[in-house]
Amino acid sequence: MACPLEQFSNLDIWDEKTRYFLDKIKYQDFNTYGFIVDRVPRGCGCILENLSPQRKGHITIWDARWEEGVGSQGLVVLYAYDPPKESKISRLDLIKADLDELGVGQARLYQARHWKHHPYVDSQTLKEGFYEKINQIQGRDGIFLTGEIVSGLSIENAIWHSKYLLEEFFF
Ligand SMILES: Cc1cc2nc3c(=O)[nH]c(=O)nc-3n(C[C@H](O)[C@H](O)[C@H](O)COP(=O)(O)OP(=O)(O)OC[C@H]3O[C@@H](n4cnc5c(N)ncnc54)[C@H](O)[C@@H]3O)c2cc1C
Repeated sequence: MACPLEQFSNLDIWDEKTRYFLDKIKYQDFNTYGFIVDRVPRGCGCILENLSPQRKGHITIWDARWEEGVGSQGLVVLYAYDPPKESKISRLDLIKADLDELGVGQARLYQARHWKHHPYVDSQTLKEGFYEKINQIQGRDGIFLTGEIVSGLSIENAIWHSKYLLEEFFF
């Protein structure tokens, strides 16, 4: 199973503890924004001070992928978590204010996408044995669990974990 596991925590195939653990999976609310700007910056970068929980909602990473557009009008992709629920400013207005502060005037929104990003469990659930349980039930009734919550973030990690399952249980 490589789909979001918490959606299937109610299946009869699980024991009670597995159901409990799968229900504990949470996500980060993450956004990507494509903006057309007049002067595309080179490459990509991270705004380190915006990585703190107090700065949630502000731009964390910017990315200009196409070398030929540098210095002229083109697309920049920005990444940001959702602002806290109590924030009075909308997530898009926060980004626009950041762009103004960075001196990027006249940025035009091309597209915005919201993602449920980076599944995780909190430290209490880790202490209670979330991953020990996942490992214990791998292969039970011919069912294997994989995907980001098991392997960690990134496509490469997902591939490594699938390879591990193949080598451990099938060859
Ligand atoms: C905006 C963004 C940018 C990223 N950039 C990078 C990057 O540059 N490099 C990198 O390595 N990683 C990147 N990642 C992380 C990477 O995408 C994930 O780590 C990886 O895709 C996780 O793989 P997965 O199989 O767990 O989940 P997914 O790839 O999300 O696959 C889950 C699958 O389950 C399916 N599904 C959902 N619900 C159901 C259901 N009810 N029934 C059946 N199927 C269902 C979905 O359609 C999907 O195909 C990025 C993530 C995001 C959100």
